[in-house]
Amino acid sequence: MSLPLVLTVAGSDSGGGAGIQADLKTMLALGVHGMSVLTAVTAQNSLGVHGVWELPEEAVRAQYRAVVDDIGVHAVKTGMLATAPLVETVAELLAGTDAPVVVDPVGVSKHGDPLLAASALESVRTRLLPAATVATPNLDEVTQLTGIVVEDEDGMRRAADAILGHGPRWALIKGGHLPGNAAEVVDLLTDGTEEHWLYAPRYDNRHTHGTGCTLASAVASGLAKGLSVPTAVREAKAYVTGALAAGFALGRGIGPVDHGW
Ligand code: PLP
Repeated sequence: MSLPLVLTVAGSDSGGGAGIQADLKTMLALGVHGMSVLTAVTAQNSLGVHGVWELPEEAVRAQYRAVVDDIGVHAVKTGMLATAPLVETVAELLAGTDAPVVVDPVGVSKHGDPLLAASALESVRTRLLPAATVATPNLDEVTQLTGIVVEDEDGMRRAADAILGHGPRWALIKGGHLPGNAAEVVDLLTDGTEEHWLYAPRYDNRHTHGTGCTLASAVASGLAKGLSVPTAVREAKAYVTGALAAGFALGRGIGPVDHGW
């Protein structure tokens, strides 16, 4: 049996809604074998991030080598990388892989808690984005990385050009945080030549914790199965839309998306 093998390089969310936990749930739901390189541990629940402990670079390197040297990978997803030395370490490891890489340039949580040091932004631009097959920034991450404030679909095009300028093969600009409250949310996937606009209904549901992690993991799962980037992104978007529609209350704050929908 050849099961698609997907590796997430990301942080732990003790509340089980985002991070490594969301990644592995997504991979299980999509029928691939999920593996993990942990970069940081967060003490986290539905109310926010209460503590962050980064792992030593050595621990990240050792986990990655353990997986790649024995089991192998068909696709990699990166999420929370926390610090500049960890971004640099992960970029260095990814330089040696032929597998497609989905980079979710995680910056700040929905609660406003920082998940990436400001001093790491330059390493994300110059080291991590060039290693990406697909980069999946939301609009806040676009602003952090490029300075562009996106207010409409034309702004999304400019954002995609700026992100592509840092070297990923494809940019998926997630428009969920666009101003206004349109009935639909729109994302733009482009490689600078093709443009794919993806529309989905906007759900009136505050329980959205883990959407970004879930989307990037679903894209990586599709790529591991051999799908093209546009098809993997379309299928991933359908998966996250279902999970988001089924997002549920947990604790006293923002609940998680549901992988059992
Ligand atoms: N915690 C971890 C470890 C994450 O990787 C992320 C997002 O990537 C979050 C929290 C934030 O999730 P959200 O912004 O969906 O609440």
